[in-house]
Amino acid sequence: MSDYVKSLIAEVKAKHPAQPEFHQAVTEVAESLDLVLERHPEYRSAKILERIIEPERIIIFRVPWVDEQGEVHINIGYRIEMNSAIGPYKGGLRFHPSVNLGILKFLAFEQVFKNSLTSLPMGGGKGGSDFDPKGKSDLKIMRFCQSFMSELFRHIGPNTDVPAGDIGVGGREIGYLFGQYKKLRNEFTGVLTGKGLNWGGSLIRPEATGYGAVYFASEMLGTKKQTLEGKTCLVSGSGNVAQYTIEKLLQLGAKPVTISDSNGYIYDEEGINMEKLNFIMELKNVRRGRIKEYTDKYKKAVFTPLDGNMDHNPLWNHKAQCAFPSATQNEINAKDAQNLLKNGVYVVSEGANMPTTIEGVNIFLDNKILYGPGKAANAGGVSVSGLEMSQNSQRLPWTREEVDARLQLIMKNIHKTCVDMADRFGTPGNYVNGANIGGFLKVADAMIDQGVV
Ligand code: NAP
Repeated sequence: MSDYVKSLIAEVKAKHPAQPEFHQAVTEVAESLDLVLERHPEYRSAKILERIIEPERIIIFRVPWVDEQGEVHINIGYRIEMNSAIGPYKGGLRFHPSVNLGILKFLAFEQVFKNSLTSLPMGGGKGGSDFDPKGKSDLKIMRFCQSFMSELFRHIGPNTDVPAGDIGVGGREIGYLFGQYKKLRNEFTGVLTGKGLNWGGSLIRPEATGYGAVYFASEMLGTKKQTLEGKTCLVSGSGNVAQYTIEKLLQLGAKPVTISDSNGYIYDEEGINMEKLNFIMELKNVRRGRIKEYTDKYKKAVFTPLDGNMDHNPLWNHKAQCAFPSATQNEINAKDAQNLLKNGVYVVSEGANMPTTIEGVNIFLDNKILYGPGKAANAGGVSVSGLEMSQNSQRLPWTREEVDARLQLIMKNIHKTCVDMADRFGTPGNYVNGANIGGFLKVADAMIDQGVV
């Protein structure tokens, strides 16, 4: 690492000491960009890296709401408008008790590079709240969403900032948020993506992140003339990304054997088939139950409760060839990475954002496995969000086949960009460098073109 990048990272840590996830995301990107800055001093003299790590705007607001019993609750709302060099800010909203400024800054920072990789005109942003939707009634969710949007609506718009879903924000929440925006602005525009099909949503948007992560894995395997057919796959999470990852894996003849939520994980040696996936979708999306209930119906499967005192996650300690982390950040540490390798895993395609710690990433890179980092592998979701924006502007919905074909092409192109960039900068097969550099160059050039703003 150059002295320049070292001092930049030290400065970020000193300035924002309580934001470890943000430090992690910046460190990973800055290390890759060392290769670029050496060849392109113009980026350094224009202080592109210094500017790209500073959000253009951060909005923090109070979200007061009243529940059915008349009790008043207060949450914190955030929107990080990170970078608008290549398009309106774009990125999801996360509702989870762990949400804080550092986590949202890491997500917004990653989003800038991811959105650039999609080749669609989207800047980067992220937002959310420490509100916990788990186990709450629809009425509570609606009241919270309405209060959240009563402030956020001032800052967003179809040409300014277009939020979407993320952890804890799915179709139901987007509906309530959109309804309130429409009421306050008195206009029907594509201000959010992930909308319902009857009111401006795109076919394939719910599927897009999971499908995209599987398409990316297929592309990586293609470089070795292999396919996913017959491969055993470990999947974490049981939300939007995990569900559609499993669906696409089944369509391509692979065998997913795990699924999880924050209470623990299921290992189903016989494989999770379509019938079992339908059960999971009903359990999680309609009944909003816990994944443990899977073993009530499928008796041979084993549930292991999460043990926060363990130094590793046993989900990653089963025989398999592929892994699709699809829950949350830092769910694979160094020990988990070692366990994955020991069990034969040689393909990791990240549906979640930054699910692997820096030590874990280095183990994957040192062992030269096919490792697709989140900002490339899970870019399918925001890509179809971009396609939803195009359909909203045209006021014309596209068919399922058309959207899926575009998604596949975008994932293919992202994969090619990663491979080409990794080659061009002397680290063939390193998708981390490929994604970071590929995402950076377009944004950096746009920032230079637009002057110091
Ligand atoms: P989701 O539908 O809310 O599902 C999240 C899943 O992860 C749930 O099973 C949840 O379990 C589990 N989970 C969340 N936090 C956890 C924690 N701290 N420990 C253990 N398990 C945890 O969210 P999602 O949309 O699938 O998002 C999953 C990941 O993909 C996130 O990293 C997100 O940023 C990323 N991503 C999503 C999209 C998208 O289009 N949705 C696009 C790109 C990337 P519980 O229900 O028990 O909390």
